[in-house]
Amino acid sequence: MKVGCFDSPVFREHDAGPGHPERPQRVDAVRRGIERSGLGGRLEWPLVRSATAVELLRVHAEEHVRAVEATEGRTVPFDADTQAGPRTYAAALHAAGAVVDATTRVLEGRLDRAFCLSRPPGHHAESDRVMGFCYFNNVAVAAAEALARGVARVLIVDFDVHHGNGTQEIFYTDPRVLYVSSHQFPFYPGTGLQLEQGSGPGRGYTTNLPMPAGSTDADYLMVYREIVLPLARAFDPELVLVSAGFDAFGGDPLAGMQLTADGYGALAGICLEAAAGAANGRAVLALEGGYDLDGLASSGAAVTRVLLGETPPDPGGSASTEIVRRLPLYRAALAPSWPSFSR
Ligand SMILES: [Zn+2]
Repeated sequence: MKVGCFDSPVFREHDAGPGHPERPQRVDAVRRGIERSGLGGRLEWPLVRSATAVELLRVHAEEHVRAVEATEGRTVPFDADTQAGPRTYAAALHAAGAVVDATTRVLEGRLDRAFCLSRPPGHHAESDRVMGFCYFNNVAVAAAEALARGVARVLIVDFDVHHGNGTQEIFYTDPRVLYVSSHQFPFYPGTGLQLEQGSGPGRGYTTNLPMPAGSTDADYLMVYREIVLPLARAFDPELVLVSAGFDAFGGDPLAGMQLTADGYGALAGICLEAAAGAANGRAVLALEGGYDLDGLASSGAAVTRVLLGETPPDPGGSASTEIVRRLPLYRAALAPSWPSFSR
């Protein structure tokens, strides 16, 4: 099993401002988790390159790319919680470049799977908007690269605790990309309602699974086994990309979910199962959020073990009555576009 891990010193050069939770130590924490678990030597570590203008412009407006580029060497606030520093542009280029390159290598068979420790994260960045600690939408740029290379169907699974409004916006009318997000709701950024399902030819190719605060491993696994996996099988993607946010970890300072490292490992296992059909196992995970350093270390290691082919952990437990109550609602929302959910 050839698994690539994409890390770069440049990821740590983005300074979001003093006291900001989206800090360079986050990448160090994931890296520490991987090394302490003795997994580093089993991974390949390709050199990370910048994304090119051509790659970025497939999903971002030219003015957006120019606006981020214009922050080079300066400190520029975009909104209350998103500020670019002198090296943010370089880091954002590398963050997107890593996921594009990982995807390319997986599609070409040079790697089986990959994990990108990309920073800054990307899933809140819209086609023309910097938002929520995100500048370029790393996973969306990689999905667009896959489409440009002739891949017909890309599944993006987003298990970050927040809704990936940017990824949703970018592919909202595109039936070639199925975007599936589980997220705490109601919560930042306020999007991700079940009724947001895509539009035009993309109708049915956006799936939102809003979950209540306090959801546990068992809650997530029920939703992923009962909804995400059957949906993935119906879509039969040729590539699976994962917005791997670790901020649903119990104890994350920004959110209120209760996932454990084992829970994250199990979710990664389901994402790989989703890649078992036409994707032939091709999967790329990219770091999004996650602000508890110990959570990042343990969850990052758990996910890496699964990518390396180890049996996913089984955290056990039983789902809450609230999640059991929601399952038929999730299915009902999917049924019009996905007939297998109407049975
Ligand atoms: Zn998040």
